[in-house]
This record gives sequence, C-alpha cells and structure tokens, in this order.
Amino acid sequence: MFRKILVANRGEIAIRVIRACREMRIANVAVISEADRSSLHVRYADEAFCVGPAASAQSYLNMEAILAAAERSGAEAIHPGYGFLAENAEFARRCEAAGIVFIGPPSQAIRAMGSKTSARRLATAAGVPVVPGATEELSDAEVEARALEIGLPVVIKAAAGGGGKGMRVVQDPAGLASAIRAARSEAQSAFGDSAIYLEKYLIGPRHVEMQILADQQGHTVYLGERECSVQRRHQKVIEEAPSPVVDAALRQRMGEAAVRLAQTAGYVNAGTMEFLVDGDRNFFFLEMNTRLQVEHPVTEMVTGLDLVKEQIGIAAGEPLRHRQEELSIRGAAIECRIYAEDPFQNFVPSPGRITGLREPGGAGVRIESGVYEGYEVPVHYDPLIAKLVTWGQDRLEAAHRMRRALMEYTIHGIKTTIPFHQRVMVDPEFLRGEIDTTYIDRRFAGRPHAWDESQRDVALVAAGIHAFLRDQARLGAHPARAGAAESPWKLAARRAGLRG
Ligand code: ADP
Repeated sequence: MFRKILVANRGEIAIRVIRACREMRIANVAVISEADRSSLHVRYADEAFCVGPAASAQSYLNMEAILAAAERSGAEAIHPGYGFLAENAEFARRCEAAGIVFIGPPSQAIRAMGSKTSARRLATAAGVPVVPGATEELSDAEVEARALEIGLPVVIKAAAGGGGKGMRVVQDPAGLASAIRAARSEAQSAFGDSAIYLEKYLIGPRHVEMQILADQQGHTVYLGERECSVQRRHQKVIEEAPSPVVDAALRQRMGEAAVRLAQTAGYVNAGTMEFLVDGDRNFFFLEMNTRLQVEHPVTEMVTGLDLVKEQIGIAAGEPLRHRQEELSIRGAAIECRIYAEDPFQNFVPSPGRITGLREPGGAGVRIESGVYEGYEVPVHYDPLIAKLVTWGQDRLEAAHRMRRALMEYTIHGIKTTIPFHQRVMVDPEFLRGEIDTTYIDRRFAGRPHAWDESQRDVALVAAGIHAFLRDQARLGAHPARAGAAESPWKLAARRAGLRG
C-alpha cells in the first residue's frame, strides 16, 4: 500500500480524500493556490504545498507544479478528486512517466472514454444503446443537414465537453446555424477543441447513471445506479440512490451494459456510465465520467462501500474485495448539493464571508463540507461548498430526514441553495418520485415567489392589506366612519367565525 498520497484538489472533495487516507494510515499532502491559504482542506492535511496563484489554470491545473510538489513531498500517488485534472489524460500520462501512480484509470482509458464521440463509438461496439445522433467529424453545413434529418429538437455538444459547456439545444431551424457556430466557439475556448457532435434531444428524460469499479486483474462490478434528474441548466443539484424507476431487472441490464462497456474500453478504477432513460424505461448511453463523481456518497450510503478507499486499493494493485453477487443495496440515500448561489436569482454565484454556520447532525445524516464559520468563499472556483446526504430505510424516510436536516442547517453571510432544497423536499411530485430533467423548470422556474420563503411574509401582509382596503371601501371611506373599519386581523377572525 502507498505510504503517502498527494491530493490534487481543493474544498470538500480534498477533505473527503484526506479522510480516507487517514483511515487507511496513509500520509497525505494537500496542494493550495494562493487564494486558498485559509481553506479548510489545508487544515485537514498533514502537509501542504502552494502550487500557484488563484487562477486555477496556474495552480490546480498546473501539472508541473503539482508533479513537483508530489516529488518534493515524496508522495507515491496522486488522487485528483473530481474536476480540475481528474479527467485529463495528459496529466495521467505524465504521472505514469514520472513513476507516480495516478489514482484513476490509465491515460489511454481516459482518452478513449473522455472524448464523448469516441465513448459513443465504443458503446456502440459494446452493444450498448446510445442516444440517436451523429458522431463523425462534420462541417457546419453537414451538422445542419444531419440535424434536420434527425429531426428537431437536437442538442449540439462539444466532443471534449463537460459541465454543460458548449451545449446548445435547438428547437427551431432558424436558430440552427448560429447555435452550431456558438457551440463550436464555446468548445474551442473552454476545451481548446472545436469538435462538436449532435444528439436527438429527448423530451423530459431521466438521468440515471451506473457506478462501476474495475481492478487491474480484469474484474469489473457495478454498484447500482444513481438518479440525477433534478438539474438546473443541465447540471445536477440533487441525486439519489436507488432510482425510483429502476427495478432489479433494469438495474441488472444497465449494470451489465456498463460493465461490458468498461471492459471494451480497458477501463480500470472507479467510473460512471451516464444514461438517459425515457418514459418507457429504455436507456441510452450518454457519456462516461472516468473519475469519482460529486454524488458518489449516495452509492456509498446504500452499498456500505467507501469508494475512495476502493479507488486507492485498486491503484495500489489490490484485487476487488467483492464479487458482483456479494453486492447489494440497502435503503435509500439522497444528496443535496449546497452551492453558494442565490436560488431566487436564477442560481447566480454568491461568494462572500460565512458569518454564521450551524451544520445538521443526527441519525442518517452525512455532511461533506469544505467551509467553516468566518471562511471567505472565493470567487475563483466552483461554488459548491458542501453536500448534505441522508440515508433512510426507504426513499420517503431519506427525504423526510433531509427536510429535517435542512431545517437544522444555517449558513449566514452568503446565499445558498438550502431554501431551494427545502422546497423540493416538501414537493408532492418529488416525494412521489415524479422527477425528470425538466423538473426544476416545470415546478419552479418563472415562479420564484411560489417557493421563496422570504416572500411568504410579504405575501401575507399584502393579502391582509388588500382585505382591509376592500372592506374599508365597502364601508365607505368616509373619515367619520373610519373607526368602523377594523384591522385586517379582526376582519379575518370574524370571517372565520371567531369573535374579534
Ligand atoms: P455535460 O457533460 O456537459 O454535463 P451531458 O452530456 O452529461 O453534458 O448532459 C448533461 C445533461 O443535459 C443531462 O443529464 C441531461 O439532462 C441533458 N441532456 C444531455 N443530452 C441530452 C439529450 N440528448 N436529450 C435530452 N437531454 C439531454
């Protein structure tokens, strides 16, 4: 086993990995940018190296500086977390060349599965259904022609894409040419690669993904699915395991498809196959994430496994500890992503100082946080500050527990997505499991006041004043009779049959 691991990430995921190292009695090294000197992950780590200025391109994405820190600290392996260098085949290759173990798949597997078009081709070769579309290199004019052939709506995506960047949904033929140009230029600036491809845009699918683990000895297992349909701007906000629509038979079919694809790609370590599931429960491969996912804790809660420890064990050459038939799912888990964002202003980032913080606890509650009271959430990075995860014997218990935990959770000084999650946890459609990728738009968009807690009192007072003025008008707004007008509270009480 490794003696020392460098964690090439920040925030909650860096702490998550450091904790696993500590439980495995492995020394750990953090890296930080100049903007992160007061970051929580530094406080958790055994030692820390500054790898550059605030801009992630010069620090958390700075391969030379991170490899130099690994060498100086004597770390034998690097865990990349998610984001930053986690899916960078070149970084994995450079680790391999430097004799440092990259805790993730081999660089050629990242290359094969990291490009969405190449992953789609491999999926087809493995007999896994893919979302209908066109993956070959096409000129703009050809993309346009193929889009019309497939039939609108279509979605144009960056081959090297991720995080929703370079993605354009086209409903109307008039917008097609400009969407193609915009997707290409966004792909070029975000990923340095202007290659785009096309998919039929499915209406209201569910996002269901399958977690796999593969060891260096050639064994691959699936750990069940996660439902990630609650999304804003095509990005996940709430995830759960298991999916309310996946039964044992579908789980087995999706799991076996994911394992087949992983084996076709020569995949090793933890990975996730993302699928879209339509109303008839047909599933279509979307893409693979060749790393640990943000939402991995829900799988851990229902399987009892520690995915980070599994990743480290696999990277150290250990065989998988469980055969497929030994794995099972117990209960249900939900994760709410706590972002420093204002849910009432279309989820705009809300960086700033956390002036007060109280975290929830109690049975079945897990919190993965990267912040503390007094911490200044920097503007430079992803606004995810914490993840709140609950487990229950069934989905409803997990949801009720989440509602209770969210009530206990207070963060002052910045806006967060907590009030949004509170609304979801009491929404009858969510509680019935009626969610798909249009859920947030369908239930909340355009009606922010319908779920804005801070607006409730304003609405009550406005209704009171309205009733008061209406009754006053009925009595005649004569100054001499003004005394006859009663307070809105009295009027309301009278109407309710009470004596005021
Ligand atoms: P990214 O990697 O940029 O996050 P994905 O390809 O994983 O993009 O898609 C993100 C989300 O966008 C999906 O979970 C889904 O909600 C939506 N989406 C992507 N492709 C389609 C499609 N063909 N039809 C309908 N929705 C889609």
